[in-house]
Amino acid sequence: MVESPPEGYVEKAVVDLTSEQGMKLAAVLLGLALIVAVPVAMAWYVDVVRPGALDLGLTKDQEGSIIIGFDLGAMLSYLAVLVLVLVFHELVHGVVFWRVSGEAPTVGLKGVFVYVSAPPSVFFQRDRYLWVGAAPMVLLTLVGVLLVLLLPASLMLLDVLFVALNAAGSAGDLVMILMLLRYPSSSLIRDLDSGMVIYGLGAP
Ligand SMILES: [Zn+2]
Repeated sequence: MVESPPEGYVEKAVVDLTSEQGMKLAAVLLGLALIVAVPVAMAWYVDVVRPGALDLGLTKDQEGSIIIGFDLGAMLSYLAVLVLVLVFHELVHGVVFWRVSGEAPTVGLKGVFVYVSAPPSVFFQRDRYLWVGAAPMVLLTLVGVLLVLLLPASLMLLDVLFVALNAAGSAGDLVMILMLLRYPSSSLIRDLDSGMVIYGLGAP
């Protein structure tokens, strides 16, 4: 069922994220940049507000280089952090979707990835849709940054990993936000499972 947009609005573009090679490449490159840059920034921040805290969770060799644990316990804790990131990231999208649209989002599973999408009957104002996209990056980064002040030092490495994985996992959201910023703020967005439809005022 295809819903029609409000009076005066026409379809401007259909963005299918599965076939947008440029956006996919941009998301991968941005994700790689973030997975490197975010731990560096976080390590610097931890060093300022909790000096030495990160060292306690890390083992160092004789030259003082950091050895990151790869024994079973460590691997399981990294995996647990990854699952937490996936769940909380989508949960934040979903809750903000719900607040903004007033309708319950649908939750689905693609392979191992949980995704949340809005019902197709919802036409989002552009800026509200941008907030839905940006919310996990903004909120979960803030939570991770605050947790640095509260968590025991033994969990500091996992907190840094949490912030880094969430940031890298937000790369696709950020690319989508940059793409949507090229459209006027009066635009309306309808969510699809694998993309979105963009509506604007006037002629197509
Ligand atoms: Zn996301």
